[in-house]
Amino acid sequence: MDPVNILIIGGGVVGCAVAEALSRRWQEIFLVEQFPKFGMSTSTRNSGVIHSGIYYPTNSWKAKHCVEGNRLTTEFCAKNKVPYRVTGKLVVAKSPEEEPQLLALMKKGQENGVAGLRIIDGASIREREPHVQGYSALLVPSTGICSAEELVHAYARLAEQQGANLLKRAKVAALEPQKDLMRVTLRVGDEQQPEVETVEARCVVNAAGLSADDIAKPLDDLSRARGILRNSWAASGTGPRPCLSVAAHGRAFTGLAFHQNALGNAAPWADGEIRG
Ligand SMILES: Cc1cc2nc3c(=O)[nH]c(=O)nc-3n(C[C@H](O)[C@H](O)[C@H](O)COP(=O)(O)OP(=O)(O)OC[C@H]3O[C@@H](n4cnc5c(N)ncnc54)[C@H](O)[C@@H]3O)c2cc1C
Repeated sequence: MDPVNILIIGGGVVGCAVAEALSRRWQEIFLVEQFPKFGMSTSTRNSGVIHSGIYYPTNSWKAKHCVEGNRLTTEFCAKNKVPYRVTGKLVVAKSPEEEPQLLALMKKGQENGVAGLRIIDGASIREREPHVQGYSALLVPSTGICSAEELVHAYARLAEQQGANLLKRAKVAALEPQKDLMRVTLRVGDEQQPEVETVEARCVVNAAGLSADDIAKPLDDLSRARGILRNSWAASGTGPRPCLSVAAHGRAFTGLAFHQNALGNAAPWADGEIRG
């Protein structure tokens, strides 16, 4: 069999988006996903937040990509009928002592190019979000939410329409670099009795999420992926939640916060539902 042009490992949001982008320009693109549906690992088990880019260090790639990614993801959702909403987000200071943190965050967000940031007072918080009490809050207008599952499927659908070949139940078992090619061993079909197939690819994109470093390990000495999850608060009750809200105190400032969004996407343990 002739070598394929590009083989993408992993059918999460990254692999499917890469397949969509590459298949606009290139032919013979293959994506292999080990599970029976795309996005069954992390990509449909998240909060579906379209982040603004306020938290990342100024001038970092993360900040640049997050700010631009916010705009591009929102445009993509609108164009491709992926359910989304630009909810805005409140980062709440419970007391005057916490307000300097909001100001520092606003400054960083402005330096990162996040538009429309401003501080609002307690009365304005309650107007927007009746369940939230706070002294003041940073309003982040560009934060949004989308259906994580439909986002993955939209990328996959477009990639296929553009001629990419997306295969499910195809697990990469081994990568062996050849002179100008990569030999890829796949276990295809039924998990208990898979067929073993070998393909050669001119280029391999490793989009295997949390397994990416294990897959790359035989090729390179990549450091292991590190997962971080921090819980900022839990909400109860059934009232309106027009905005996303996170607490300004403590560790929520240092990275990932825990959200439940108004489209019903939540961390998987929030409702016990398995999506995919
Ligand atoms: C609780 C939680 C909440 C989050 N909330 C948000 C949020 O609100 N907004 C946001 O932007 N991000 C959020 N994230 C992060 C986001 O979900 C991830 O960054 C994103 O899903 C990563 O996508 P991925 O395609 O790289 O990985 P994955 O979704 O893990 O996809 C990798 C794919 O590779 C496949 N694969 C692995 N090994 C192989 C193999 N050997 N052969 C074939 N296929 C293989 C897997 O089955 C999987 O489908 C959250 C993450 C978590 C954990």
